[in-house]
Amino acid sequence: DNELKALAEAIQSKSGPWNAEPLVPGAKSTGATVQVTNPADRRQTVGSYVTADSATVDKALANAVNAQHAWDRLPAASRAAILEHAAEQLEARRGEFIALCVREAGKSLPDAIAEIREAADFLRYYATMARRLFGHPEQLPGPTGESNQLFLNGRGVFVCISPWNFPLAIFLGQVSAALAAGNAVIAKPAEQTSLIGYVAVKLLHEAGVPADVLQYLPGDGATVGAALTRDPRVAGVAFTGSTETAWAINRALAARNAPIAALIAETGGQNAMIADSSALPEQIVKDVISSAFQSAGQRCSAARVLFVQEDIADKVSAMLAGAMAELKVGDPGQLSTDVGPVIDEDAKKILVDHAARMDKEAKKIGEVTLDPATTGHGTFFAPRAYEIPGLATLTREIFGPVLHVIRWKADELPKVVEQINATGYGLTLGIHSRIDDTVEFIQSRARVGNCYVNRNQIGAVVGVQPFGGEGLSGTGPKAGGPHYLLRFAGERTLTIN
Ligand code: NAD
Repeated sequence: DNELKALAEAIQSKSGPWNAEPLVPGAKSTGATVQVTNPADRRQTVGSYVTADSATVDKALANAVNAQHAWDRLPAASRAAILEHAAEQLEARRGEFIALCVREAGKSLPDAIAEIREAADFLRYYATMARRLFGHPEQLPGPTGESNQLFLNGRGVFVCISPWNFPLAIFLGQVSAALAAGNAVIAKPAEQTSLIGYVAVKLLHEAGVPADVLQYLPGDGATVGAALTRDPRVAGVAFTGSTETAWAINRALAARNAPIAALIAETGGQNAMIADSSALPEQIVKDVISSAFQSAGQRCSAARVLFVQEDIADKVSAMLAGAMAELKVGDPGQLSTDVGPVIDEDAKKILVDHAARMDKEAKKIGEVTLDPATTGHGTFFAPRAYEIPGLATLTREIFGPVLHVIRWKADELPKVVEQINATGYGLTLGIHSRIDDTVEFIQSRARVGNCYVNRNQIGAVVGVQPFGGEGLSGTGPKAGGPHYLLRFAGERTLTIN
């Protein structure tokens, strides 16, 4: 707690403004300047950034093509050492990064601190994996007189397109993996968190990544993102964001008259938690509250639906309503805050429209009351819980603090799993049960990437809980897992007589 208080005070002194522009050697963008305001109080300016114009996008691609070979020829251990140095610098300067995560992304202090830790973990993990995988060619058996070796190398120019909800961890995770594997990288941050992306790229430059090997291109997805993904010079795209955008990127890559690019897409979910009557109601409620409402529900892993067995459903609903009444929504820079703002007006409108529909069609279980004094100038949305008849009521991912509760009867477990699989999404699943057979039944049939038993279903430790979805939720391989780097790599077999 004392450390948190010290950090809270430290970030108060880092007030900005932060100003950013494309980082592309040899180009000066004449794109529009975008003002960035604080989601918790729209009267506060955080900074501004200049978007990349089309000449800057083109120059970045040309620079990347020219720079990639030399970077790829460096020993993997040298690239790894640069990433590890960046991790140290990130931790040394964490006050600035935490301040930006709070002000630009509306993250709570604990979330912002966790974000810095996860970003540093990604830098170190991919450095370690690069040493292990890329450091030496694999010698393969072959006919006498011939030597056969398998080399891993960078694919070429990799574009990294990231979301705003983990503006540092996912951003640096993608970028560090692509760099570790020997690619030249063009990083396109989310529109809402372009300043964090800028400071992160500067950090990597200062740690030793050459300016033409890692370039930063802020701007709209539909213009800058689309221009990058339709360019034939791009050999791969690492994308995290909505399923709809992943489809658009996939189409753009496929329409090119160019070598087929690698696409790593980590996308949305319709995540459920299943609780049976052997589970402890207190534990279910504690875990579903953090899974659904922490980070204002703006995590891809967040629980959107709680399937609760009928016998304990009334008790769980009453406890849920009670626990929600205790949640404090407000300034994410205050340690007493549980739930901060949502990212912008567009996100809020989707939630308001969804709540209006649920108010008519569903039974409200709980709603947090907002204090206008602390939330009146920001994009806040009060957490809510509704009871609904079935998953078919939800037609899209609701990316915010709304939980839906569905009751099930003892013989309906197979149908519950079928409903979840029928959404086509497959990111996270929570199971609360003290019956081993039930846990086994669910986890072996549900088509999801990450399954969490008797705990909350958010958070994945890099290198320990590789994270990523199936079906509409992503292509794999899992971020923070041992196979992730391989998708960023090409392979060459060298046979010498
Ligand atoms: P988004 O799809 O709107 O945007 C993501 C990025 O794509 C942004 O940088 C945006 O500018 C860019 N983009 C938009 N249109 C583009 C186009 N036509 N071509 C190229 N790039 C384009 O998503 P978001 O709102 O930033 O993030 C929230 C979504 O991300 C949710 O669906 C969430 O579930 C998902 N997400 C998934 C994971 C995961 O690991 N599976 C992690 C975090 C977030």
